[in-house]
Amino acid sequence: QVVTRFAPSPTGFLHIGGARTALFNWLFARGHGGRFLLRIEDTDRARSTPEATAAILTGLRWLGLDWDGEAISQFERAPRHAEVAHQMLASGNAYKCFATQDEIEAFREAARAENRSTLFQSPWRDADPATHPDAPFVIRLKAPREGVTVIEDAVQGRVTIGNDQLDDMVMLRSDGTPTYMLAVVVDDHDMGVTHVIRGDDHLNNAARQMQIYHAMGWPVPVWAHIPLIHGPDGKKLSKRHGALGVEEYCAMGYPAAAMRNYLARLGWSHGDDEFFTDAQAQGWFGLEGIGRSPARLDFRKLENLSGQHIAAMPDAALLHELEAFLAATAQPALTEPQRDGLARALPLLKSGAKTFPQLIEKAHFVLATRPLVPDEKAAQALDDVSRGILAELTPHLRSASWERDALEAAVKQVAEAHGTSLGKLAAPLRAALAGRSVSPSVFDMMLVIGREETLARLADAGG
Ligand code: GLU
Repeated sequence: QVVTRFAPSPTGFLHIGGARTALFNWLFARGHGGRFLLRIEDTDRARSTPEATAAILTGLRWLGLDWDGEAISQFERAPRHAEVAHQMLASGNAYKCFATQDEIEAFREAARAENRSTLFQSPWRDADPATHPDAPFVIRLKAPREGVTVIEDAVQGRVTIGNDQLDDMVMLRSDGTPTYMLAVVVDDHDMGVTHVIRGDDHLNNAARQMQIYHAMGWPVPVWAHIPLIHGPDGKKLSKRHGALGVEEYCAMGYPAAAMRNYLARLGWSHGDDEFFTDAQAQGWFGLEGIGRSPARLDFRKLENLSGQHIAAMPDAALLHELEAFLAATAQPALTEPQRDGLARALPLLKSGAKTFPQLIEKAHFVLATRPLVPDEKAAQALDDVSRGILAELTPHLRSASWERDALEAAVKQVAEAHGTSLGKLAAPLRAALAGRSVSPSVFDMMLVIGREETLARLADAGG
């Protein structure tokens, strides 16, 4: 069975790059009927905060990346990490090193002076335990000095690192706490992780982690180190490129489904497919589709996908997501009449809006309550002449049958009687019905709000 994991360090928010990593692992697990696990790498007590963990969980939940079982705290597993270090000590794959910081520094200085490798070579590597002092020690891996360590990476291909480039890494510090390198390997092994998909900034770590797997005789997972995401300019991602935290995308009103679609396409492709559902992505996703060069953020693409996902969403689901968006951005909840109005308006509105705020703006005419306060342009459209024409239109609308053709005919008739066009009359009509100079079509609005409300708004506007 396939088991993947997402292993964020809780030091800030859920970064868009981390979200993409999580998504890839989620897609791969779901597509293979496997399990997707979450491990919070909170061993660095100084930098890890509960707020950051909460932000990561919130971000994953918003994105809809559900994990299996409880989130695992790496810190809480420290005793198990220490146990493995001692196991390696017992099997001769590790040793106690009593070298002090000063001694290590002196070694490095001498090496520099003699132009040798500055990688520390501990004098304790082959020391007889009988000669061990009663002093603090770290546990180091007895790493192979000859040969190479080979990683078969599903994305990067074969990566070979000379063992002379890797020192005997510390696995357990003198205070008994594990180092990151040991913790990752022990956790991935114990969690039964079969596939590790993560940023290629961890590729160098993989060589060290491989040595621990070998020392323990554990099966090595499939590694897939994915290129990092770059900005639209091809440079390393940074704040100046715009939103980096997933919560910012939530606040901008992109549907999570669109975000998943967009993130999936950052560094992974399936033919020419751009717009797809979760089911399609899960069915298609594979490590072979991951590119070797960094993907670039493309906000226009995100907007387009977002518009397509909004248009494709069933009305009830869309309404639900809009309400969740209002709640997430601390905006007032919909009233009962607003919800009803919106439910009737959504079929007309949902194509053409790229974000939830755009959709809400288009829906202003159903969300606003009488008397509408016209914005500046709308107020200008409601001059005396226009109000006179609207007044004349009122009896026609009172008796018209409430369907598009009849409404159009009525408006046209009044417009022609005044030697003006339907288009010209639309501006004051729009101003009266929406309080805006930009809105959905006046006939769409009339059909959605109904006869009573239409006549009342015309009367409010002085028509
Ligand atoms: N905690 C690491 C990070 O946030 C990920 C480690 C891993 O995936 O192996 O970059």
